[in-house]
Amino acid sequence: MSEIDGLIAHGVRNLKPYQPGKPVESLERELGLTDIIKLASNENPMGFSPRVLDAVNEALSCAARYPDGSGELLKGSLSEKLGVSVEALTLGNGSNDVLDLVVRAFVNPGDEVVVSEHAFAVYVLASMSVNAQLRIVPASGFGHDLVGMAGAVTPKTKIVFVANPNNPTGTYSDTDSVEQFLEALPSTVLAVLDEAYFEYVTKSDYPDGVSLLSRFPNLVVVRTFSKAYGLAGLRVGYGIASKEIAEVLNRVRHPFNVNSLALAAAEAALGDESFLADSVRRNLQGLKQLGSGLDELGLDWIPSVANFICARVGTDAEQIYAAMLKLGVIVRPVANYGLSEHLRISVGLESENVRALAVLSEARTSSEP
Ligand code: PMP
Repeated sequence: MSEIDGLIAHGVRNLKPYQPGKPVESLERELGLTDIIKLASNENPMGFSPRVLDAVNEALSCAARYPDGSGELLKGSLSEKLGVSVEALTLGNGSNDVLDLVVRAFVNPGDEVVVSEHAFAVYVLASMSVNAQLRIVPASGFGHDLVGMAGAVTPKTKIVFVANPNNPTGTYSDTDSVEQFLEALPSTVLAVLDEAYFEYVTKSDYPDGVSLLSRFPNLVVVRTFSKAYGLAGLRVGYGIASKEIAEVLNRVRHPFNVNSLALAAAEAALGDESFLADSVRRNLQGLKQLGSGLDELGLDWIPSVANFICARVGTDAEQIYAAMLKLGVIVRPVANYGLSEHLRISVGLESENVRALAVLSEARTSSEP
């Protein structure tokens, strides 16, 4: 053990950093390829609303000044859109920031945090970093077992994280099961409902977490501009909760955590409903396209309501991923989520989906022993 090892905070000692999707630029450098597509980070393949560019250009001219530290304008627009008070909102540098704020504000070392098997990695990372005790509840058919998760709560539990829909599985919990879960949860435990892909979901039995806030004061809903709004590179997310909870989150929020370009972009993106509707429509088509393409390849896949799909490619998933990289298509291995035989493919543009399926087929053949 080096001297530095001894200095590391207990919760950080065994942490493994979050593994992001491989950037296009690094694959370009490594393989000298030019025509690369990245379907690895659940971004919006259509980009963002054209209104965003004007708003960001305008904000850039004031970038020598600190941003509005309370994000008043954006919070005002969100408050109007969501029908919640401005005081209920917490802005974050991406929704990851908000997830981290909840953990830092409420979890002491040794407190318990409940998550599902195969759930989004940041819940575990944030919880481990403060030396929380994790309770990982086995998934049910790749989705969250909400009855099991409520049952895993003990007097030491502070937070239960529910990803709805979940990444990387794309599964969702329906209105009845979310309401029953919230009813079963003691009011002294926070329920964090992560709705990063909320805008993409069109199922009639998918719950809108915001509408549950008045009934469940221990609920925190988390959303983002990174997915359907197409602003992943700018980093804006937000939490919606009771004023009391939001006030506590604000105590640990870093000053100016959302930059001025991001604030302006989010504000503009929020105003363009037709871009959003178009993104959602194209995503549904893309999900269908990928699903039938995977069927044609004879592969199982997990039904998804988000903007990605997890395909079961077999025990050689890592080799297939590597072979796809060489052919210029970046997808995401998900062995770190306990899904070692799957690859996650983000929905791309129609032509990108065609290419991803063709390259997957080719990679499977080339990785055969
Ligand atoms: N929650 C889920 C379920 C996600 O998949 C992601 C992004 N991968 C996030 C939160 C965080 O996204 P961001 O920080 O870009 O808002």
